[in-house]
Amino acid sequence: MKVPVQDRHIVQLARLVSGPRSILYKKADLAAYDCDGFTVQKHLPKAVVFPKNTEEVAAVVKYCSENGLPFLARGAGTGLSGGAIPINGEVIISLTRMKRLLSVDLENRRAVVEPGFINLKLTNAVSDKEYYYAPDPSSQYCCTIGGNVAENAGGAHCLKYGVTTNHILGLEVVLPNGEIIEIGKNGIPDAPGYDLLGLLTGSEGTLGIVTKITVRILKNPEAKQTVLAYFDNIEDGSQAVSDIISAGIVPAALEMMDQIAIEGVEAAAFPVGHPKDIEAVLLIEVDGIKAGIQEQIDQILEVCKKRNVREVRAARNEEERERWWANRKTGFGAMGAISHDYLVQDGVIPRSKLPEVLRRIHKISKDSGLRIANIFHAGDGNLHPLVLFDSRIPGETERAIKVGSACLKVCADAGGTITGEHGVGIEKREEMRFVFKDEEISAQTDIRKVFNPDNLLNAGKLFPTPGKCAEMKQELKKA
Ligand SMILES: Cc1cc2nc3c(=O)[nH]c(=O)nc-3n(C[C@H](O)[C@H](O)[C@H](O)COP(=O)(O)OP(=O)(O)OC[C@H]3O[C@@H](n4cnc5c(N)ncnc54)[C@H](O)[C@@H]3O)c2cc1C
Repeated sequence: MKVPVQDRHIVQLARLVSGPRSILYKKADLAAYDCDGFTVQKHLPKAVVFPKNTEEVAAVVKYCSENGLPFLARGAGTGLSGGAIPINGEVIISLTRMKRLLSVDLENRRAVVEPGFINLKLTNAVSDKEYYYAPDPSSQYCCTIGGNVAENAGGAHCLKYGVTTNHILGLEVVLPNGEIIEIGKNGIPDAPGYDLLGLLTGSEGTLGIVTKITVRILKNPEAKQTVLAYFDNIEDGSQAVSDIISAGIVPAALEMMDQIAIEGVEAAAFPVGHPKDIEAVLLIEVDGIKAGIQEQIDQILEVCKKRNVREVRAARNEEERERWWANRKTGFGAMGAISHDYLVQDGVIPRSKLPEVLRRIHKISKDSGLRIANIFHAGDGNLHPLVLFDSRIPGETERAIKVGSACLKVCADAGGTITGEHGVGIEKREEMRFVFKDEEISAQTDIRKVFNPDNLLNAGKLFPTPGKCAEMKQELKKA
């Protein structure tokens, strides 16, 4: 593509990507790429390129690397921790034009996709043969599988089936110097040598750019049943979660929403008529062979009864089940119906600590004066406190960020960690110190140096800024 500009890098980059509108460089166009789902920081990229194949990705990467230009990969831009934000004025390599389903091999239960392929489209593509792709982030209708690999995405059904890393069999990766490598050749896992699949999955786009992915696909379960369980008291609801798992039952999904979250989802696009005066609802799904479904449900209801459940509803048909899931899965966006802005947090805790941690988060909310809604993968102990705020009020954004960080500290102190699925990005860099010693952080940044020695690929993400440790400790003392 020819571009009428003086900047020699833009002219050269435009030559490396084929087809019309394969590079954006005007300020007005770049504005759409100044942030991802973490909207509290915005930075313009130098340019956005749209390669069509691995060779074009490699050519752009090689050019950036040889000319000292910072660069990063971007999928759908739904990331919630700022991983795709160009904080160094990066060249953004958008993978959205590499969106083909390359092959489906039902016999060996695997499929090969390009990185810009949308998560939900994979299940849609194989559902007529009664197969599906298990990792189901709530953003699955628009996020890419490349982005899922980078963030090691989770989802409601990952409680029973595992997160993205458990479903990745092979990757093609463009290294930061432009070389192309294959990991997990022919989709065969457990190859000799280091587990590079495990290392690359969840590396937040800091070690290489994924250009092809071999994934595992699963056969649909024979039957499933979905129920809603309403609790007057949030402690009872969260104790029920812990009791269900410790009784040895592993539902396919075990999700929870608190009263503020219910207010939001009922005011948004998919209300389902949750009672407004309850403190917690559990959305529970079990699946497996038909003969065992009712037994699993009965066991779960027994546990819920012991925890004073007020009411239980079972989905009467697939339409109702789908609506309940839409109500839950659009839960983050639904907060827009009750708050001007919201910040999504993503802590993990041991399930047995749920009642205590929710109590502490409630106290943070009370002390700060900011409402916090909780929508989360309760069975995994993966909390999502949503801090509601109004960015139009001076200082409130900064306050919301501090409140979010305080919630993560509570999770870390409870023996958990600071992210379950959304990644660290720029948002939680400093919070990495809640869970890692300096030596442990160095061991990880040393790995980054091996892959990304010039630190041109997605610099400034995932790890804390050196030297900020003392500052951070003082902040924490004040809080
Ligand atoms: C409403 C909503 C609900 C969500 N629910 C969930 C949920 O349930 N579970 C969950 O895990 N997440 C959830 N997310 C977060 C987000 O959707 C996931 O992190 C998703 O995996 C990001 O995919 P993406 O294509 O948007 O990636 P992007 O946001 O474009 O990028 C994310 C990171 O991946 C890197 N990256 C992208 N593509 C590549 C590639 N091909 N190679 C190397 N690096 C790459 C980027 O550099 C960046 O660091 C939610 C987000 C929203 C907005």
